[in-house]
Amino acid sequence: MNHISIALDGPSGAGKSTLARLLAERLGFLYVDTGAIYRAVGLYTHQRGQDPQDEAAVAALLPEIDLALCHEDGIQRMFLGGADVSKAIRMPEMSYYASRVSVHPAVRTFLLEMQKALAAKENVVMDGRDIGTVVLPDASLKVYITATPEKRAERRYKELVEKGVADSFDQVLADIVARDTLDKNRAVSPLRPADDAVILDTTELDLNQSLEALIKLARERLGLGGDSA
Ligand code: C5P
Repeated sequence: MNHISIALDGPSGAGKSTLARLLAERLGFLYVDTGAIYRAVGLYTHQRGQDPQDEAAVAALLPEIDLALCHEDGIQRMFLGGADVSKAIRMPEMSYYASRVSVHPAVRTFLLEMQKALAAKENVVMDGRDIGTVVLPDASLKVYITATPEKRAERRYKELVEKGVADSFDQVLADIVARDTLDKNRAVSPLRPADDAVILDTTELDLNQSLEALIKLARERLGLGGDSA
């Protein structure tokens, strides 16, 4: 049986993961946050004291890494070596590690099947950087969610303040710009909209407006999501 898949791609801080989670909830689909897997590889590289930029060193870790992405009542949990690292992978330092390890072709190939397998099992809303272009090129709907770097940094900064994680706004903006540069310029699976993706710019939209725009697309393109509110 063919399942329905919705691919949401875009740069860090565009609101993708919150929107993907809410959209999945609304449609009764499984939400898959693929950034978590890259973050877990980043965390493992850190735990093993390796340089995330050293491709050979990171590739050598892959055969021994024990990753599992689980879903309980729609909540995604990331396990590394049997331990729940869902919280640990959200530390700002892990954004650095994830974006460095995700550049390596060996890492991307290693994680590809895991992501494809999740979408083969059930209807999913999957968010990431290369879902519409590489992981699920036949996705039923592809949306590229973006916003200006300043707006994205503003949102991410607010989130970090709420979580009590200290980082200055300038540091958050610099991190977003650096990650954009890496994600867009890597040789394998660079961040870019798929040719058949709809672009959703959320710079001037709040969360509700962005979600409504997504639900409207799901309704128009896939006949999903019921009547608009
Ligand atoms: O989405 P999130 O910020 O958690 O992703 C962390 C990092 O993982 C990104 O900066 C990106 O470099 C990488 N990533 C990726 N491909 C994906 C998801 C995330 O390269 N599908």
